[in-house]
Amino acid sequence: KREQDELDKLRKATDLLDPKSADLKNFKDLPLCEPTAAGLRASHFEVLTDVQRSAIPLALKGKDILGAAKTGSGKTLTFLIPVLEKLYRAQWTELDGLGALIIAPTRELAVQIFEVLRKIGRKHSFSAGLVIGGKNLKEEAERLGRMNILVCTPGRMLQHLDQTAGFDVDNLQILVLDEADRIMDMGFQSAVDALVQHLPKNRQTLLFSATQSKRVSDLARLSLKDPEYVSVHEEA
Ligand code: ADP
Ligand code: MG
Repeated sequence: KREQDELDKLRKATDLLDPKSADLKNFKDLPLCEPTAAGLRASHFEVLTDVQRSAIPLALKGKDILGAAKTGSGKTLTFLIPVLEKLYRAQWTELDGLGALIIAPTRELAVQIFEVLRKIGRKHSFSAGLVIGGKNLKEEAERLGRMNILVCTPGRMLQHLDQTAGFDVDNLQILVLDEADRIMDMGFQSAVDALVQHLPKNRQTLLFSATQSKRVSDLARLSLKDPEYVSVHEEA
């Protein structure tokens, strides 16, 4: 079938991809499926930022990532593109349930991530939702079961995992922890610890932070498996 051929081609190109290649400059140099590529084109994203060039190839290859790069360096696309590619390559459908979970420290950040996801993911057919509280827990719970990708804050997500009957995360393919330094600074350590306990061990995890700290490396130790370290500094 044509679809299978395209997937095989994508997988092969990803295997052959050299993450350190100097030829990686633009999004079109990456092995991305057509819906992701079209979403990026439509959003006028063309040239990779440093953190995107360093981390996306490794993430596409299935590695866990511990990424440190300052605010404004383009971390959102660095994790959203691998999320979309992971689910596309797994031929994820509505029926497969929750495939990706993205955790952010604040509602505002979760909303921002969700907006970028809607933009670059517009050509995909995945369902996506926000879990940030402020709404009726029961109403939110009813929508959860139908979502493929969730963007959430730690406390609210944990509340659902503990209380929402029938909410199944056993198929989860990929976990993203964004602004891990702020997650820890805001006192969400035990919520995130408990959250991670609910998730299947056999998953990919991408952790990003603007700064490195003891608390971030503690979280990394708990949530990442044999991670690749990607740290992008400003030119001296
Ligand atoms: P960070 O999370 O590292 O602080 P963001 O992901 O919020 O950074 O991106 C910062 C800004 O840069 C956003 O306005 C985003 O649209 C823009 N941006 C990200 N990647 C690119 C890119 N490859 N080309 C052009 N603009 C980009
Ligand atoms: Mg960010």
